[in-house]
Amino acid sequence: MRPAPAIATDHTRPLVRLRPEAGRRLKAGHPWAFSNEIAMRPDLRALPPGGLIRLEGDDGVRFGTCFYNPQSLIAARRLDPDPEARIDSGWFGLRLAEAASLRRRFFPTPFCRLVHAEADRLPGLIIDRFGPFVVLEANTAGMDRLLPEITAALAALLPLQGLLARNDSPARRLEGLGEEIRLLSGAIPDALSVVEGGVSFPVDPMHGQKTGWYYDQRESRDRVAALAHGARLLDLFCHTGGFGLRAAAAGAARVVLVDSSSAALALAEKAAERNRLCAEFVRADAFSAMAELASRGAQFDIVVCDPPPFIPTRKDQAAGLRGYERMARLAAALVAPGGFLFAASCSHHAAPESFAEAVARGLARAARGGRIVYAGGAGPDHPTHPHLPESAYLKTMLIQLF
Ligand code: SAH
Repeated sequence: MRPAPAIATDHTRPLVRLRPEAGRRLKAGHPWAFSNEIAMRPDLRALPPGGLIRLEGDDGVRFGTCFYNPQSLIAARRLDPDPEARIDSGWFGLRLAEAASLRRRFFPTPFCRLVHAEADRLPGLIIDRFGPFVVLEANTAGMDRLLPEITAALAALLPLQGLLARNDSPARRLEGLGEEIRLLSGAIPDALSVVEGGVSFPVDPMHGQKTGWYYDQRESRDRVAALAHGARLLDLFCHTGGFGLRAAAAGAARVVLVDSSSAALALAEKAAERNRLCAEFVRADAFSAMAELASRGAQFDIVVCDPPPFIPTRKDQAAGLRGYERMARLAAALVAPGGFLFAASCSHHAAPESFAEAVARGLARAARGGRIVYAGGAGPDHPTHPHLPESAYLKTMLIQLF
């Protein structure tokens, strides 16, 4: 008897099957199937990266509509439980409206991360909103293919005046995608701003880092600002001055901002001027700046360390964790007794306990004791998928040092 055709003729959407035993994780609710879990056939290798498929277990259990990328280690990503779901601008409209409705419950103004990928059931799609101006990252081939539908859905949902694709994140390489920064609709003004805690920050999504603003640290900046009155504060890896300038607005006695990027510091200076805040701006490697300040015996009441990811890939784990340890050691030496160290890691590959241990080792090596006042992560506009703990990439700790 001839085997049944792999692709049923009454469907335009190809059927992809998992290998025997490979469906357990998906049945439990995980949103991905890895390439070694797929029952491979020659025709699947020829499918376009990011095309839509129907995914089934070898036992016939249906996992719905997925993106399929034969070039990626993460071969299939679930989009919709319905294997025949029409993935058009109307479908995106519903998902985006759900995402917007969650954010409205937390934030009084439409300035936030509107979509955080798998947690919002939009695999690989990141969207940051600055009122009517929107910046997205399409980090999967599937989302990249569907940019016209996403653009149409955003235009229908929001009073959209400009949409920029900031498609230059390293995650795209894993999907076989190139880098591009492309205006998808309208215009992004030069003078875009975010107001946080009463401070207005200029944002440059076109040329700046990532989407231009780190919404993920909003709640941490609130916490640090709450401690800042009368304090001497050192903001290391300051970017455009989010922590330091909010502290200055809250009455900090002295604020020193350090970043290696002159473009980021230029925006920080602009923000300080605009809000009439006093700060010192230092363009330097943060580690060298810490050593230099220590050699002069400088002391601060609050030291903020919010570095770029030290662990870009899994194999960098040991070196990256040593980086966090060294950061904590050098920063702790600059904290006056009774003062605070705020330390963060945005590395997906650092588990919260590994990061906490690295910080603890750094404190020990600086011969400092302390108490952890708060350990947390990104705000509620960065929800995480229950089966993807690594998507809780941001780890933060506020420690009072004795
Ligand atoms: N705390 C910031 C976000 C920091 S992002 C906020 O709240 O907005 C990390 C920053 O570290 C970037 O601005 C980057 O330019 C800077 N950076 C990267 N490597 C650095 C280094 N070796 N020394 C100092 N700054 C560095």
